[in-house]
Amino acid sequence: MKNIQKEKTLIVIKPDGIQRSLIGEIVKRYERLGLKLVALKMFVPKSDFIEKHYTVDLNWRMANGEKTIKAYRDKSLTPPTDDPMEMSAMTLEKLKKYMSSGPVVAMVWEGAHAVQIVRKITGGTEPLTSDVGTIRGDFVLDSYQISDPTGRAVRNLIHASGSIDDAEKEINLWFKPEEIIKYNLVQEHILYDVNLDGILE
Ligand code: GDP
Ligand code: MG
Repeated sequence: MKNIQKEKTLIVIKPDGIQRSLIGEIVKRYERLGLKLVALKMFVPKSDFIEKHYTVDLNWRMANGEKTIKAYRDKSLTPPTDDPMEMSAMTLEKLKKYMSSGPVVAMVWEGAHAVQIVRKITGGTEPLTSDVGTIRGDFVLDSYQISDPTGRAVRNLIHASGSIDDAEKEINLWFKPEEIIKYNLVQEHILYDVNLDGILE
């Protein structure tokens, strides 16, 4: 079994997150969980890089299309199309513009259950229905209903890997191995040690 404490996930603060001055707020949310920041960089991604990023997961097109169509139907709204592949093809074009419109901050965070815990506190894709207390639920107000007709992607501040497998592929795409730093954090004893020895004098 892989060392579960070493699980890694990719988080990208999208251009709207940078423009809204939320870098510190977003980093704080992940940092205070106990996760360890092991890589960080800022740059303006190219549109073809964004296409690569969203298609490292071969199932993304179908899953994304089905999710959006369901989100429309759950609100008794008519989706722009009934075909999931067509839906996600339109979304991918919007995403390429959105994600290459300005600087992003890309980070790798490490710790137990990193992928799942980060998804939980990041919140669901559509801010209109993201849970209260999540980053997307607390800091932004977009919906498919207002973004799709104007031809733009839903602005939801953050990308976070959807599975351990995607995280590995995405981290490979965004970072060179030498950019990921192996180091210890003092607090890891408190998070993971079997016995909390050494606290008392
Ligand atoms: P995530 O994993 O929660 O980020 O969601 P996805 O991987 O399914 O989609 C990637 C990103 O595309 C989302 O974070 C949104 O910014 C955007 N997006 C996804 N689906 C739609 C859609 O149907 N319409 C629009 N306008 N944007 C979308
Ligand atoms: Mg995703």
